[in-house]
Amino acid sequence: MAFPSSNRGQWAGRQQIGYLMQQGVDYPNCLSLAAGLVDYDTFPADLVLQATQKILTDPAQARASLQYGTTPGSLELRRQLLKHLAKLDGVSQESEAGSIDQLLITTGSQQFLDLVSQAVLNPGDICLVTAPSYFVYLSTLEGIGVELVSVDCDDQGIIPASLQETLERLEQAGKLPLVKMLYLVSYFDNPRGITMPLNRRQEVLEILERWSAKQYLYLLEDAAYRELWFEEPPPQSIYSLDQSKERVIYTQTFSKSLSPGLRTGFGLLPKALVKPVTDLKSIHDFGSPHFSQFVVSELLSSGQYEQHVKKLRESYREKSQVMWNAVSDSILTSDLAHAEQPGGGLYVWLKLDDKVCDTRFSQRLFRDAAEKHHVMFVPGELFYSDPSHPDANLTMRLSYGVQTQQKLKEGIERLANAIAEVRK
Ligand code: PMP
Repeated sequence: MAFPSSNRGQWAGRQQIGYLMQQGVDYPNCLSLAAGLVDYDTFPADLVLQATQKILTDPAQARASLQYGTTPGSLELRRQLLKHLAKLDGVSQESEAGSIDQLLITTGSQQFLDLVSQAVLNPGDICLVTAPSYFVYLSTLEGIGVELVSVDCDDQGIIPASLQETLERLEQAGKLPLVKMLYLVSYFDNPRGITMPLNRRQEVLEILERWSAKQYLYLLEDAAYRELWFEEPPPQSIYSLDQSKERVIYTQTFSKSLSPGLRTGFGLLPKALVKPVTDLKSIHDFGSPHFSQFVVSELLSSGQYEQHVKKLRESYREKSQVMWNAVSDSILTSDLAHAEQPGGGLYVWLKLDDKVCDTRFSQRLFRDAAEKHHVMFVPGELFYSDPSHPDANLTMRLSYGVQTQQKLKEGIERLANAIAEVRK
């Protein structure tokens, strides 16, 4: 006899991330440019081993780290994080980076995103997202019955004029009171790999401030890829520009810059959200893995994390260049495809011209690429909350995260062949 799961359980099974994982199972021989996984060869096993040894051979630390922690997380790690953020934002005082009482450690930044959504949004509320946007979070929002309204972006991120127009349109439709939050991936975006310049950050914040008299909107800033820059550090966070510290919610993760296996992320909350988010976390898990927090804290305080990220940047810079050269040589040779060279992060976002593609292009290409050419990418349509967006079927995300340089070249060659065949 089959035991049915709840509606929500069944809904979760229909989400994009499950679909994508299933493709990996269905096409096991594919060279995957799809997964946002990080590079196995860069994992600092030696540093984690040293940190672990240090923690477990110190009786006080061993006892503390193997016990439950508190719901907001280790005080020592939170101190380290404020120091770290102060450095990233270029401020001299840790207190300027944020307040320790408003900092919460979570199980990856995914948990932080989830908890914040539950604390801020009711079913039927509206969240503004960019088109395209990080698809797993789009599912999180849909899962709590939130309406997603997309705002256009260009190669500098969300377009301020489009944000303004969207808010005006929602006001005219009488929906403004339902608009509670704007979600942005502000550094080396997933999927587009772009970073918002400083003036864009300021403009967006100013627009939200102007609309405050009519409707208070939170801005959720997701800085998952912030530290993976190649040439020069990106601008300060939108969080740091928010003088009030009451509008922007900020989250970052160690998944991309250290190891996703440690499942350690964190976020900074406006005062009003500290209690509801912490309360939601305590009924969920009483706190994130305590031992991982000790390890991350040790790596931060010893300076080893900083050294590691430096090496990591170099490795991803090289890999991104290899992918970029291959894409330029074999796919961007005509004006029928477009991409921007990433300045950091893990992704190249490729857009094909609608002159060569029909409306179901990305699905057809995905299937042909996987079945005949044994290469996989993430179809662009997953990243659009509105599937009728004109770019949804013309785009794809390519990741240089996990494959070796040789495999990246091979993967792009296979993809170029698949595109050429579909175009015929
Ligand atoms: N935000 C973005 C933009 C991401 O790409 C990811 C992971 N792919 C996350 C958040 C969540 O990562 P984690 O839970 O591992 O911190």
